[in-house]
Amino acid sequence: MKLNRSELERGFNNKLFDIPAEGLHLKDVRFEDDRMECTLSAEPIPEGFKLTGTLKIRFIESCDRCLESFVDEHTSKVHCMLTPNEELIDGTEPEVILFTGSDHEVDLETIFRELILLEESFKRLCQDGCKGLCSICGINKNSAECDCRDDSSDSPFDVLKQH
Ligand SMILES: [Zn+2]
Ligand SMILES: [Zn+2]
Repeated sequence: MKLNRSELERGFNNKLFDIPAEGLHLKDVRFEDDRMECTLSAEPIPEGFKLTGTLKIRFIESCDRCLESFVDEHTSKVHCMLTPNEELIDGTEPEVILFTGSDHEVDLETIFRELILLEESFKRLCQDGCKGLCSICGINKNSAECDCRDDSSDSPFDVLKQH
């Protein structure tokens, strides 16, 4: 997503941007409707421009236990500074973006990519306490019940019982 200089110079308040997922080059991440929503405000500051707002991400995830797809909504805070001052850019803060006097526009892709990857969770469950799939018949135990008896328990207490 690009912003041009004149729009930054004018400044804007809580402007809604529609961000298509393609172009972010995140191949293992899926988004609902292949897009995201971002509300941004821009303000000129002595160092350059300040951008603040929120990024609403609706990931399509697949549950680690029951394999069902579900939508996982995250809201990230956007807080960045565009500056022509290279001394402010030390590489440790992705929020500070170089924007020199000769740049007509700035691409916020890197910032968004960073935010998205931070929000991507390692553990993906469709709900707390998802019951998962039956290890015998494969039924989704959240929506149905089966009569299978799970004898495959490897609890150390079972071993004790056998002796
Ligand atoms: Zn699940
Ligand atoms: Zn079963």
